[in-house]
Amino acid sequence: MQERFLLMIPGPIDFDPAVLRAMSAKTLSHMSVEFAEIFGRALENLRKVFLTEKGQPFVVAGSGTLAMDMAVANLVEPGERVLVLSGGFFGDRMADIARRYQAEVVVVKAPIGEVPSLEEAEKHLKQGGFKAITATHVDTSTGVAVDVKAVGELAQKYGALSIIDGVCATAGMEFRQDEWGIDVYLTASQKAIGVPPGLALLVVSQRAMEAYRKRRSPVLNYYGDFGLWLPVMEAYEARKVAYFATPAVNLIYALDVSLQQILAEGMENRFARHRLLAKAFQAGIDAIGLKQVPLREEIRAWTLTCAYYPDGIGPELLKAIKAEGVVVAAGLHPEIKDKYFRVGHMGTLTPGDVLTTLGAIERALASLGYRFEKGAGVKAAQEILCLTP
Ligand SMILES: *Cc1c(COP(=O)(O)O)cnc(C)c1O
Repeated sequence: MQERFLLMIPGPIDFDPAVLRAMSAKTLSHMSVEFAEIFGRALENLRKVFLTEKGQPFVVAGSGTLAMDMAVANLVEPGERVLVLSGGFFGDRMADIARRYQAEVVVVKAPIGEVPSLEEAEKHLKQGGFKAITATHVDTSTGVAVDVKAVGELAQKYGALSIIDGVCATAGMEFRQDEWGIDVYLTASQKAIGVPPGLALLVVSQRAMEAYRKRRSPVLNYYGDFGLWLPVMEAYEARKVAYFATPAVNLIYALDVSLQQILAEGMENRFARHRLLAKAFQAGIDAIGLKQVPLREEIRAWTLTCAYYPDGIGPELLKAIKAEGVVVAAGLHPEIKDKYFRVGHMGTLTPGDVLTTLGAIERALASLGYRFEKGAGVKAAQEILCLTP
């Protein structure tokens, strides 16, 4: 396979060469002071990326689904009520996880391309008794972004814990854990965090850690139990070592490098870059004449674009785009799977990547006989990219 191509899917993304090089360094003992320094720094920096002072970070070998699993398993006990705001594929997965742990699950489901209704959510919350509310920051199956701040306010108003799946959003979309009062924000390494797949990342508020300590029943997931990981995370942050299960040493080297890069850019700059590049890319998609899945411009994600295929063209478009040197993703939402495609734009993304991708999409569409003004997408994006100093 050709090695030089652009990987524009919602994770794994194109990783920075320095991050990839970090993975090839000699594997240290996980019980060494040298590794404690690296892991400890990564834990501190994770807190800074999530914009929290006192949140408790957990970095565990596994994928984003493990992070979802851990959040629910640790904070919800059998018989407790959970309100799941679902915009599609991963919201439905969160509901499945909560049911697996024997929670009583109420789902507020969004129509395709919309956000779940907060009014409907509040109607349920008014009945009382909800332990937690979950939401997906960016729905990976529709490209819709939820107002996480508003979800946090709702959770606090009704005394529920807020659990936000940030897997397709963290370190790309604006997020302020302390200011917005979010109890659990979780993600995976391979998306905007910019590290190859294999790490589940969560930061848990002190309020949620208190709720964990007050549990009456044991956590029904052994590997994911906060209580077994907490002494390990605390030890490494204090530059000491502790063992529960072997950490993914080389992935943590990569995480350390990537988090330092993210903080060197600065969170405000990073949010602004993702917003700008998304705006440029999405203006390009509009100009080409493709309809986007999100029904309103204000709810389009900054990390992902989902667009319908034009009439007469289907998933063969993916192959044609690939032939132009850019890899994009197929549909994911079960109800519209074969009608649209997805483009991830997060992490190391540059203005050049936006133009390259739009150019590849234009050439691919032209090769399949779609009629449009050639260059319209690239031009619309340039209009936005050239406005910045
Ligand atoms: C990718 C993704 C997941 C699942 O992550 P895995 O690493 O594939 O387990 C969960 N939620 C969202 C929003 C995602 O985008």
